[in-house]
Amino acid sequence: MTTRSYWLDEARDPLPRARFHGAPDVAVVGGGVTGCSCAVALAEAGLKVRLYEAREIGGGASGRNGGFALRGGAAAYPVMVESIGRERAASLWRWTERELLELAGVAGDAFRPTSSLRIAADDEERAELEQEYEALRSDGFDVEWRDELPAPLRDRYPAALFHPADGVLQPARVVRRLAARAAATGVEIHEHTRVTSTEETAAETVVVATDGYPSGLAGELEGLIVPTRGQVIATEPIPERFFAIPHYGRHGYDYWHQTEDGRIVAGGF
Ligand SMILES: Cc1cc2nc3c(=O)[nH]c(=O)nc-3n(C[C@H](O)[C@H](O)[C@H](O)COP(=O)(O)OP(=O)(O)OC[C@H]3O[C@@H](n4cnc5c(N)ncnc54)[C@H](O)[C@@H]3O)c2cc1C
Repeated sequence: MTTRSYWLDEARDPLPRARFHGAPDVAVVGGGVTGCSCAVALAEAGLKVRLYEAREIGGGASGRNGGFALRGGAAAYPVMVESIGRERAASLWRWTERELLELAGVAGDAFRPTSSLRIAADDEERAELEQEYEALRSDGFDVEWRDELPAPLRDRYPAALFHPADGVLQPARVVRRLAARAAATGVEIHEHTRVTSTEETAAETVVVATDGYPSGLAGELEGLIVPTRGQVIATEPIPERFFAIPHYGRHGYDYWHQTEDGRIVAGGF
C-alpha cells in the first residue's frame, strides 16, 4: 500500500520562479495552506517573503486531507454558542461562509459546490442535530432537515442536516494555486528545504506554519503541539455513483465523498 497522496499525484505546472538577493522581511516555514496563504497576504502587502517547505508544496496535511470545505467550526453550533456567546458564534459562522466563497474563487475548478450532509449515526446524534438545526435556523442560517435519506444511507442513519453552501476541494490543487499566486507576487519558494533554526533564514520575522509537525522552531510551544490521529484513503474509481454529495458524522468519527472520477474518499479520526 502506498502512502503517496492521491491528490498530490495530479500533474502540476512548475511554480513561477521568483528570486531576490539578501535577507527577506519575513520567512515563512511550511508550504501548506497556512504558509502559502500567509505568504500571499504578506507579499501582496509589499513585503519580501521567502517560503521554505521541507517536502513539496502541499506535502503535509494540506495535500493529504479529506477535501471537505465546510462552513462553521470543529464544534457544533450550539456548543460554540454556549462557549463564546450567540453573537460571536453567529459572526464566526458568517465569517466562515464568506471565507468559503473566497476559497471557491481561489480554487477555481478545484472546488465543487456540492453542499454537504451531516449525518446522525444514532438517536443521540440525531437529537444533537435537531438542536443544531433549530439554533442555526433561529439565527438565520441556511440549513435543511432530512429525515428520509436515499439508499444506501436509508436504514443506517436516522436523519441528517443538509448544508447548501458547503463543497469539496481537490486540496493539493488549491494549495498549489496559492503557491503559484505567491510566487507570481514575488515570494521566493524553496521546496525540499527543511529549516532547522529560525536564525538560518536571516529574517527578522519568521512565521512558523508547520502544523502539528515537531519542527524545533516553535520555542516554548514545541512540546505542546503534537499531531493526533487522522487518516483518509481513496479507492480506485467505482462506476456506480453512490454519493452525490459529501457525508460526515461525528459519533462515527468518519466521513466520505465520491470524486468526479468515481473514487470513494473516506476518512476518520
Ligand atoms: C487525514 C486528514 C484529513 C483532513 N480532512 C480535512 C477536511 O476534509 N477538511 C478540512 O478543512 N480540513 C481537513 N483536515 C485538516 C487540514 O488538512 C489542516 O488543518 C490543514 O491542511 C493545515 O494546514 P497547514 O498549512 O497549517 O499545515 P500543513 O499542510 O501540514 O503544512 C505544514 C507544512 O510544514 C512543513 N514543515 C514542517 N516542518 C518544517 C520545517 N522544519 N521546515 C520546512 N517545512 C516544514 C511540512 O512538510 C508541511 O508541508 C484534515 C487533516 C488530516 C490530517
